[in-house]
Amino acid sequence: MYKYCSELEKVIEMDIKLINEHFENHAWYNHITDKEQAKIDYVEKYMALAKEMYCVHVCDKSYECEIGQRYIEGYYGKNKR
Ligand SMILES: [Zn+2]
Repeated sequence: MYKYCSELEKVIEMDIKLINEHFENHAWYNHITDKEQAKIDYVEKYMALAKEMYCVHVCDKSYECEIGQRYIEGYYGKNKR
């Protein structure tokens, strides 16, 4: 198990709420007929992005959070100039 901050649990709860509220629209916009497939597609496209944005820009405990660290490394890795 990873050591992660308690804020991340709230983000994951919010993610689940978002998926349940939006996967039907997501399916429609993306011409996906299978509802489970729409959820998977939504998760793949947006969930990591949502957690990355949260851990990098909002959470002030990311430096003691192993998952937060991974997102921070990934973010600064791909946004280097
Ligand atoms: Zn965090």
